[in-house]
Amino acid sequence: MIEATVIIVGGGPAGSTCARELKKQGIDSLILDKQAFPRTKLCAGWITPKVLSDLELSPGDYPHRLLTYRKILFHFRAIPVPIPTCQYSIRRFEFDSFLLKRADVPVYKHRVNNIRMENKQYIIDDVYKCSFLIGAGGTHCPVYRIFFSGIHPRSPRLCIAAVEEEFAWQWNDPLCRLWFFDHGLPGYSWYAPKEDGYLNVGIGGKLASFKKRGETINTHWERFLKKLSANGLASGRQFAPKGHLYYLRGHADNTRRGNAFIIGDAAGLATRDMGEGIGPAVESAKLAARSILTGEPFCLGSLTRWSAFQIIMNRGRVKK
Ligand SMILES: Cc1cc2nc3c(=O)[nH]c(=O)nc-3n(C[C@H](O)[C@H](O)[C@H](O)COP(=O)(O)OP(=O)(O)OC[C@H]3O[C@@H](n4cnc5c(N)ncnc54)[C@H](O)[C@@H]3O)c2cc1C
Repeated sequence: MIEATVIIVGGGPAGSTCARELKKQGIDSLILDKQAFPRTKLCAGWITPKVLSDLELSPGDYPHRLLTYRKILFHFRAIPVPIPTCQYSIRRFEFDSFLLKRADVPVYKHRVNNIRMENKQYIIDDVYKCSFLIGAGGTHCPVYRIFFSGIHPRSPRLCIAAVEEEFAWQWNDPLCRLWFFDHGLPGYSWYAPKEDGYLNVGIGGKLASFKKRGETINTHWERFLKKLSANGLASGRQFAPKGHLYYLRGHADNTRRGNAFIIGDAAGLATRDMGEGIGPAVESAKLAARSILTGEPFCLGSLTRWSAFQIIMNRGRVKK
């Protein structure tokens, strides 16, 4: 049996941040992830200055692609509204792997299936054993499924369906663009350039609204591609997008049960307006680590709920 005081299921931003915080205070942990890193994670890769500050990372110290957006072009229906700001764009393929390495804890490639309790300890697939268990496995986290689905139900109203693609592309226009509610899309689409010739394009919206209208997200995707092409933003490419579901923040109660916690997407914490999930994943990870270290209650009431405000207000100087 492989033992650690804390076992973290999932090595995304939530899992790696929690491991790093525990390690700083001398608590041993290990991470189990079903995928080997670096791994692809469907995500536009937009992060706010607050995320970097919560991660104690200055942009100049980040060794991979990081593009600063000094302006974001919002479109509400057809009306463009340029918003001066300071936001960052990373590739999750690089970012998550960097954070995981930086956490400097043992990482095992293992898909978690079963977890049971024995003598107040958690036994994972009869191979791993711990006193504290962190569910950081995203939407399909097994810790959520086994211990929390009954006490922390996720509302179908808050389920976001998103499709996207990230690819090498010599873009000419470095401006990030967002289109809200285009042709009745119950969400928004994005054009998010990355540093050094990569691009991420995608759309996301409330799954329940698609269903209610008898639409699929693919209808909107086809329309979106035409818009990109018409604007000379990414034309002449064969796309093969992939999709993923995640949840916007509903109630944030019942995220601890005994010594088991859920954080990040496992708890469904993305912001209500823009579906920003990396920030809340990092914030909830730090709170879970603090609760283990100090015995304080695990309370997610302080987590960022809205993103648009941060974009509008964040016009500060770019940090080096
Ligand atoms: C298309 C799309 C675009 C997005 N764009 C943005 C954006 O631009 N900015 C932003 O802030 N947020 C964005 N989000 C949301 C953001 O990606 C998530 O909120 C964020 O990744 C949550 O981090 P996490 O660490 O909780 O989970 P994840 O990053 O999903 O990590 C979970 C990890 O758990 C592992 N895992 C899962 N099941 C198991 C298992 N059974 N056993 C072992 N390991 C397991 C997975 O392999 C994965 O590595 C987007 C989401 C989507 C779908």
